[in-house]
Amino acid sequence: MSDPIVYLNGEYIPLSQAKVSVLDRGFIFGDGIYEVIPAYAKHPFRLREHLARLNNNLTATRITNPHSEPDWETIINKVVAQQDIEDQSIYLQITRGVAQRDHAFPEEVEPTVFVMSNPLNVIDQAIFNKGVSAITLDDIRWQYCNIKAIALLPNILLRQAALDKGAQEAILIRDDEVTEGSASNIFIVKDGVIKTPPKSALLLPGITRDLVVELAETNGLAFEETVFSQDELSQADEIWLTSSTKEVLPIVSLNEQTVGSGEPGSVSRKMYEIFQAYKAELKQGKQ
Ligand code: PMP
Repeated sequence: MSDPIVYLNGEYIPLSQAKVSVLDRGFIFGDGIYEVIPAYAKHPFRLREHLARLNNNLTATRITNPHSEPDWETIINKVVAQQDIEDQSIYLQITRGVAQRDHAFPEEVEPTVFVMSNPLNVIDQAIFNKGVSAITLDDIRWQYCNIKAIALLPNILLRQAALDKGAQEAILIRDDEVTEGSASNIFIVKDGVIKTPPKSALLLPGITRDLVVELAETNGLAFEETVFSQDELSQADEIWLTSSTKEVLPIVSLNEQTVGSGEPGSVSRKMYEIFQAYKAELKQGKQ
């Protein structure tokens, strides 16, 4: 098995030697936050935006940011450079640190900082062309879904419930509002207009979502940030998911009903092309 170099608390060491105390509050309480950052041809994707979200998450959880932005960039680029792979998925986790088990914040404890990078399993054109299936489920999560918390038990149970039904993703509904997927943001197209729910505490502000919104605007595609219901979702002409690993991924079947023509629609195709063009520029170091 490969033993990549990872970053743990100031050291660059092989993954097999990276060890954390069982008293780490990440292990005991799920008291921490994380980021997943794709790197294409070793260029991290929207790094500034990922680091801004990281900082927001640290502020929201009252963990002091252990590094400046340039320091983060150095750490991340070093971990990426150690790998002999072009396209990577960087995983970064910060917990409140190691302390005797007590809900109250410990005093004078250093956060635990871990960064690793794995091969990125890119969604290729064949998967895009086929699309995926999804089911809708009640959004059983808490009220701070904008925080990228490592405590993902609800998301895990929801995703597994979808997988158990032969679907790839669970689309979550709270009080008849479509929020997002268990690990992705959601877009629909109705009568040529792209729609996605506005950012709020009900959903994660996805970096891919923000880029897709930006690309829709710069390419003059009809677009609206708006709340929509489960009925509007099931009557959509097109549906797609976005995330760092899924990129732009069409849903062609929802609750075992065909979406649109049963194939990725024309707006999904257009967005996929625009997104791939952006990636191609990034690979050449242009973004
Ligand atoms: N929503 C949730 C709940 C997620 O876990 C993720 C990422 N895994 C996303 C949205 C998409 O975010 P990003 O585009 O930054 O990967």
